[in-house]
Amino acid sequence: MQALQFNAKLSPHENLRLIKTAVPQISGPTDVLIKVAFAGLCGTDLHILEGKFKNCSDKFVTIGHEFSGVVEEIGAQVQGLNRGDKVGVDPNRPCQSCKFCRRGQVNHCQNGGTRDAVGIFRDGGMAGFCLVPVDQVHLLPSSLSLEQGVLCEPLSCLLHGWKRLESALGGILPGARVLITGAGIVGNLWVSMFHYHGYRNITLSEPKEGRREIVKGLDTGCTVLTPVELGAQEDGVDDEQDGFNIIVECSGYPPALQEAISMSGRKAVVVIFGCAPTGSPMNLYPEEVFRKELTIVGCLVNPNTYSEALSLAANMGDRYLNFDKLGVKVFKLTEYEKALSSLKAGEISKAVFHLTSSI
Ligand SMILES: [Zn+2]
Ligand SMILES: [Zn+2]
Repeated sequence: MQALQFNAKLSPHENLRLIKTAVPQISGPTDVLIKVAFAGLCGTDLHILEGKFKNCSDKFVTIGHEFSGVVEEIGAQVQGLNRGDKVGVDPNRPCQSCKFCRRGQVNHCQNGGTRDAVGIFRDGGMAGFCLVPVDQVHLLPSSLSLEQGVLCEPLSCLLHGWKRLESALGGILPGARVLITGAGIVGNLWVSMFHYHGYRNITLSEPKEGRREIVKGLDTGCTVLTPVELGAQEDGVDDEQDGFNIIVECSGYPPALQEAISMSGRKAVVVIFGCAPTGSPMNLYPEEVFRKELTIVGCLVNPNTYSEALSLAANMGDRYLNFDKLGVKVFKLTEYEKALSSLKAGEISKAVFHLTSSI
């Protein structure tokens, strides 16, 4: 089978390779061998390939932590899954025995979880087949396509952020002024999520024209602006009275977050969702946080939300989870260089590989 592998310790010119390798074999009683259908490339992957994400394996690993596929073979003790089932994979497997896991805070697991995630530390989905323990494999609802299945991992992270936002707000506030910064796939999914929950006063800021056009096509009535246009619009607004009530930072660019916070209203909740490069600073004015009573919320991956994200994805359906509308483009694995350059250029919101053609 073909596999796209990365080695984060090598320089950006030599850290990615497409190789031919053997199909992995079931070796344990709880293993599931998945014939991969679709695998998504996300912002975290780009950060890894640019060498901005330090917490990675130091040998070649098959990339891809967002993928869907069909069960090819199961270990002797696997129950509830059969050959031919459509499945999605939660890349994170908490150890269940560290201090954080014992408190139910599995996304902070000190042994497993993000520290040995599939597609970052263990071989992931950008290959013809992937071997995963059964507890990370989820049956897709029958109404979800394999294409939509690839969005369940980012949606599970978004759902964690949504829960953190709702608890900070004390409920759903459909009348709130919402600002989203960054229109990659997560920004687009956040716009969709707010619209799905009845929010109609949504503004999105994005510097790349191609990406702004994609957001307009989501048909949510969202106001789409460049960062400069956003600044000009908010110049005429008394931020304390009428500033944004909810801000979701999806660009991973600290200056965008700093600017957004200056546009927040009293009691606003600021969700830091985009993954900024390690060590990148910004200015924060404690007096402003104090005076406005801001709540700043971080969101780390998807603790126990994958399963619920499948139901959410099924309910959102094609109205929201449509590749064309979301700006998701499908590539063959051999086109990985083209996929990366389209993603970096902002011509698409996400690159997804169709693997069934690459075995
Ligand atoms: Zn991701
Ligand atoms: Zn743990």
